[in-house]
Amino acid sequence: EIMSLPQMLDRTVERHRDKTAVTFYQMELSYEQLQGMTRLVAGALQRLNVGKGDRVGLMLPNCPQYVAAFYGILRRGAIVVQVNPMYTEREIEYVLQDSGADVLFVLADLYPRVKNVGHHLKKVIIVELTPGSSELTENTVSWDSFLDGASPVADEMVDPEQDVAVFQYTGGTTGRSKGAMLTHRNLVANVQQINEHASEDPFSEGDKILTVIPLFHVYGMTCAMNLGILIGINVILLPRFEPLEVLQAIQQHQPTYFPGVPTMYVALNSYPGAEQYGINAIRVCNSGSAPLPVELIQSFEKKTGATMIEGYGLSEASPTTHSTPRKGLRKPGSIGIPLPGTEARIVDLETGTRTLPIGEAGELVIRGPQVMKGYWNMPEETEQTIRDGWLFTGDIARMDEDGYFYIMDRKKDLIIASGYNVYPREIEEVLYTHPAVLEAAVVGVPDAYRGESVKAFVVLKPGASATVEEIEQFCRQNLAAFKIPRQIEFRASLPKTAVGKILRRVLVEEEKRQRS
Ligand code: ATP
Repeated sequence: EIMSLPQMLDRTVERHRDKTAVTFYQMELSYEQLQGMTRLVAGALQRLNVGKGDRVGLMLPNCPQYVAAFYGILRRGAIVVQVNPMYTEREIEYVLQDSGADVLFVLADLYPRVKNVGHHLKKVIIVELTPGSSELTENTVSWDSFLDGASPVADEMVDPEQDVAVFQYTGGTTGRSKGAMLTHRNLVANVQQINEHASEDPFSEGDKILTVIPLFHVYGMTCAMNLGILIGINVILLPRFEPLEVLQAIQQHQPTYFPGVPTMYVALNSYPGAEQYGINAIRVCNSGSAPLPVELIQSFEKKTGATMIEGYGLSEASPTTHSTPRKGLRKPGSIGIPLPGTEARIVDLETGTRTLPIGEAGELVIRGPQVMKGYWNMPEETEQTIRDGWLFTGDIARMDEDGYFYIMDRKKDLIIASGYNVYPREIEEVLYTHPAVLEAAVVGVPDAYRGESVKAFVVLKPGASATVEEIEQFCRQNLAAFKIPRQIEFRASLPKTAVGKILRRVLVEEEKRQRS
């Protein structure tokens, strides 16, 4: 069914007026209260002359104001520009300039980074989560004063198929950031697809979503916030991932659904006494955004009794395209099958025109209602990425005889050592099975003789010990000679993005710098 995001929220309000929509520490908002707040935000934005097609920046951690501002902006027919709170001044400036946003919602603590690059902004709305007194200058206003005296206005008409709801900047892991334009239809379709995919083991009224993955990232926006709103269940918001805080929230709220990223499950899995916080309330964990090591699935399921679902997606697809079936055949290490209404193929890496036979590795391309409209102001990149309606994901994958897909690696992370294709992920998977290894990242480093050679970065579990020789020996037992890391380096931690994806690129850059 085709509708806008505000229409989706309003429908849920009809059914669940008094039910808790958002929980944030001691604060609770019912669906009706949330609807009221989004309408007030829309009224206040109208006073600032924000209307159809205007871009409004949102630079907030998970909090009720994020949800209210997000839907309030959409009620004006305006576009939400997601601004990652981890961005530096340079990156903030780029996103504001590129998108042309002239109004920004920002957390008080983050404002110092906006101040010098946000002079041109018409209005900056400052959100305070902890009472304090933030310094207000002429183009800033506090959240409370922004809403003060505003009255709800009727929604602007939007065409869900054509009108863009969100600019989701891709980035963190590779080059220059591009604004993926996601329409209302894209985003609504994706939560409907996820919900339908789960229908063998459907969501129920009593489900509660623990939301610690950030909403400013496409995964949290869709798979936590919008999904919760579609179904009409309680979305519990936490602003950051800190294992003890997450465990305490689990104990207090007893969430049943926990979307996360592999590094979060790694941290909870190794947290001493995690079982004592009632983690068995969780019925389903949904892992996405990065490869989920098979070893982790088994140990985390054993510890929690939850089912681990793995999903796959990317910003350009709103994001979800594949997921493990809820019932029936499960294949650890696989991202599962395409969501309802999604077509997927594997094509040759060189031309992208030839569909490859079962089992062969090539680029994953997908087609469906969740595929973005294009990149903002980048027609050439759009043309390269969407060809005949097919989205080229940049990931290398294969499909098996049951139609299950396996992500092997990113096209750009593929290591070519002495002419052999080495998939870093395969080596990482082996490293994760070593009892002393907590986290691992494998990259290709320049090598005069081999072109590239394999280097592994390893973080050991607290209290565990292993030597380089032991790890190397372990790889030797499990991998062909050309895949064995030539260098192994122990680290206390690995560089990660805001969502906790391990940044192989940063490791590669460090290597390059050391060599030059
Ligand atoms: P950029 O695309 O600019 O490099 P990014 O990778 O962080 O940044 P996203 O759209 O957030 O951009 O992430 C999408 C990518 O994440 C996918 O292309 C894929 O490489 C990876 N990914 C997502 N889910 C999975 C998964 N289940 N298994 C393996 N990789 C995954």
